[in-house]
Amino acid sequence: MLEQKLTLEMIESLCKRRGFVYPSSEIYGGFAAVYDYGPYGVLLANNIKAAWWKAMVQLRQDIVGLDSAIFMHPKTWIASGHVGGFADPMSECKECHSRLRVDHLLEAIDVVADEKMSEDEINALFDAHKSEIHCPKCGNSNFTEAKKFNMLVKSNLGQFTENWNADPSYLRGETCQGIYLNYKNVLNSCRVKVPFGIAQIGKAFRNEITARQFIFRTRELEQMEMQYFVHPDREMEEYERLREYRWNYYRDLGIDMNKLKWHKHENLVFYAKEAYDIEYAFPFGTKELEGIHARGNYDLTQHGTHSGVDMTYLDPKSNEKYIPHIIESSVGVGRSFLMVISDSYREEGEDHDKRVVLKFPKHLAPIKVAVFPLLKNKPELVSRAKEVFQELQKQWMCEFDDNGNVGKRYRRQDEIGTPYCVTVDFDTLTDHAVTVRDRDTMQQERVPLSQLQNYLTAHLSA
Ligand SMILES: [Zn+2]
Repeated sequence: MLEQKLTLEMIESLCKRRGFVYPSSEIYGGFAAVYDYGPYGVLLANNIKAAWWKAMVQLRQDIVGLDSAIFMHPKTWIASGHVGGFADPMSECKECHSRLRVDHLLEAIDVVADEKMSEDEINALFDAHKSEIHCPKCGNSNFTEAKKFNMLVKSNLGQFTENWNADPSYLRGETCQGIYLNYKNVLNSCRVKVPFGIAQIGKAFRNEITARQFIFRTRELEQMEMQYFVHPDREMEEYERLREYRWNYYRDLGIDMNKLKWHKHENLVFYAKEAYDIEYAFPFGTKELEGIHARGNYDLTQHGTHSGVDMTYLDPKSNEKYIPHIIESSVGVGRSFLMVISDSYREEGEDHDKRVVLKFPKHLAPIKVAVFPLLKNKPELVSRAKEVFQELQKQWMCEFDDNGNVGKRYRRQDEIGTPYCVTVDFDTLTDHAVTVRDRDTMQQERVPLSQLQNYLTAHLSA
């Protein structure tokens, strides 16, 4: 049998059916480009964030954590360039009034349009290729001129007048600005010396014109970012080290490394030294997963100029004064989530033996162990199984299931990626052992209850 090619629709359907991801506000018809993480989704997302935090903070003596607020002084976004330049080129189809991203329309016919291009540059490219471009919704080829649309999301936080829109507060467009603003606080309150990094996980908001590809591009997103402050002369050396560290992170996470590749940016923003993305082969194409950029001293210089605060660093040994350069690593939780599900999704077997299984790396699996009594209507089995479950759940995220037959329970646990299922049967009452079934091999093994915790500890960390 030919293996069916994995599509985004298959992933989206599984995510909804099994409680990983739901469209936001579904009873009201949904709310475009916003998604909710369900019971298994939040567990998977938390495990992904924990793995990132471990690699970026726990295992690093030179990196500290931060959780800055979503709201910041509005001047932050002027200094960062977002008020002036955080804009996507938008056009409207004159026939069906769909709003479209011109750089994406051009990309679809293999014309490279950079998001940093000016309105005029984009329109020149757009005009030259308009006849080849068709509206993805209605197929016509009748568009308005491209206009840059600012993506910052405005709010009236702290504004009590009718015309707050003229002087808005913003929901942060990226988490790293909170890191730059706390650079001096961290230096003054913690024992860090350049080179050092600040890591943060948090929500960011972007008025994306076209939302597409499920949780790949959303208007409310969560980022995992680390900004590393270095001596100007060591920027590129540290940059190479960070690239290597981040590449190896995916190997340790358990991702198929054949699906990852480096993509070098050809058009750099004026202050950047070098920029690479790590791309992943998603079911809808090879797309950006993570950005690793050498940003020079642009960020601290901008905030120093706009705030009037001196951002220079005084080296305690050499007494040299300088503004540190920054290299950054930035990856989305949603994109990581989509990568992990895509990477783990398998359809195996044929006909009635067919199963969908998420072969998650075990440390990322939402539920580590499921415990079943063989039969629901035998109180002695149910109470013994409950005892086993209550003991295991002290250590791992576990699930108790006595619905339907054991075969159906296995299929359900396969679809949520549970590595081990433990069944209490009639023999358990006399031999004090249980059947442990492995998700990947489907092999079953008889394990004494006295050895169960050790068995699972060893196998879950293997
Ligand atoms: Zn149209």
